[in-house]
Amino acid sequence: KLGNATAKAELGRATWKYFHTVMARFPEKPTEDQQEALRSYIFLFARLYPCGECAEHFQQHLNKYPPQVSSRKSAAGWACFIHNEVNAMLEKPEFDCTNLGAFYDCGCAEDEKDEKK
Ligand code: FAD
Repeated sequence: KLGNATAKAELGRATWKYFHTVMARFPEKPTEDQQEALRSYIFLFARLYPCGECAEHFQQHLNKYPPQVSSRKSAAGWACFIHNEVNAMLEKPEFDCTNLGAFYDCGCAEDEKDEKK
């Protein structure tokens, strides 16, 4: 467990940035295998998150709201929703999930051309 609140918040911001960027880059039409990969990733992410108290809370949220992995749109929307659950728990303002669009652009648009992987 990270002892200090600043470090915990910094880890949280970096992680959320990465987490939402993963969703923004998930295929629009994922194969079964890609869907299963994302689902497994999310459960392992929750288990291994370095702040133990956070990991415990997040696993409870996951049990209540299982990951949506059928498309990029559903994965990104689900991640936004679950982050809002954490925001609510921490009494932070709700993020407008209709604004997700270009917010998590990783600058990897070049990859998209050769992305029939
Ligand atoms: P953050 O919540 O870190 O968000 C960063 C930025 O993401 C925001 O500035 C905004 O631009 C954007 N954003 C905000 N909401 C959304 C959304 N719904 N969808 C998309 N983008 C959004 N801290 C604790 O004290 N206790 C916990 O139990 C805890 N659990 C956590 C569990 C996980 C899995 C993670 C990743 C973090 C957890 N944290 C927890 C940390 C906490 O969520 C914040 O990251 C931290 O408090 C810093 O908050 P912040 O206000 O800077 O914004």
